[in-house]
Amino acid sequence: MIEAYFVNLENITKTYLLNAKKSIKAAIAWINFNIYGSIFEELIKQGVKIEIILHDDFINQRYIDYIDVLNQKGADIRLVRFAGTMHHKFCVIDDSICLFGSFNWTQNANTRNMEDLNICNDWNFIFSYLSEFNALCNLNKSDIKLINSPEICSECQSPIVNILFVEQENEYQSKIYIIRRCNCGDKQIFEDYYDISVYINMTSIGEQYEDAIFEAKISNDFDTYNQLKAQQEYDLKCYLSFVRNNRFGLPIIHAVAVKAWKAFHNDGEWIYKVIWKERGTESYILDEYDCF
Ligand SMILES: [Zn+2]
Repeated sequence: MIEAYFVNLENITKTYLLNAKKSIKAAIAWINFNIYGSIFEELIKQGVKIEIILHDDFINQRYIDYIDVLNQKGADIRLVRFAGTMHHKFCVIDDSICLFGSFNWTQNANTRNMEDLNICNDWNFIFSYLSEFNALCNLNKSDIKLINSPEICSECQSPIVNILFVEQENEYQSKIYIIRRCNCGDKQIFEDYYDISVYINMTSIGEQYEDAIFEAKISNDFDTYNQLKAQQEYDLKCYLSFVRNNRFGLPIIHAVAVKAWKAFHNDGEWIYKVIWKERGTESYILDEYDCF
């Protein structure tokens, strides 16, 4: 389902918000808390988890004391500052409905401007927005700068990227290592050993959905199939995004990869298969790399 609206946007937004049962995850450039505050309070009372990020400017800062009050009651509302404006206007409700469009939660957006509001329950769509939300919550201004303009190698002129690998080392250990890579070659710059659970967690995220995905497929239940596939990919992304918090001493980690055998007709070769890319690296992080 996808629906587009052009009038009465405040009421539509309020109705969807008040129907939330579990969670609100929203990135909205500007919110008027005189209009939406009572709704947030009502939702907090009902036990709905509210996470909102707003653009950090004087317009939103007018509400900073009230935002503190909401946060003390259990909300997580933050003002964030990047190089440009945090200009999003999207909201995921109960991880199952996404509101997006040009509509800010303000008086002007509702009464004066020409705006649009779209409502969608497509799973790929919802998980894309949830990934974006998580990235914006976890990356700061200097991270975004590092990602947008990676260091360029003076020899080969290609971006220098840090790729993290997780491998099973033996029965008890996971090996974690980081390769610094440009077109000149690879250099291992970090290596450590962890409990085997790190590797098992990573692989079991994929496996835990496999039976249900298989069942949905053979019973032609495409909606469930699509949901499970999207959820599986999202869970793996969330797990691998631990590199945002633990960067192993590096300013940024661009991707997580596994060593994989790529088969040809009669032959094959080892490659690095990328299974997670940091937000904003899509233009220079490939899906796979040659092993040197
Ligand atoms: Zn180079």
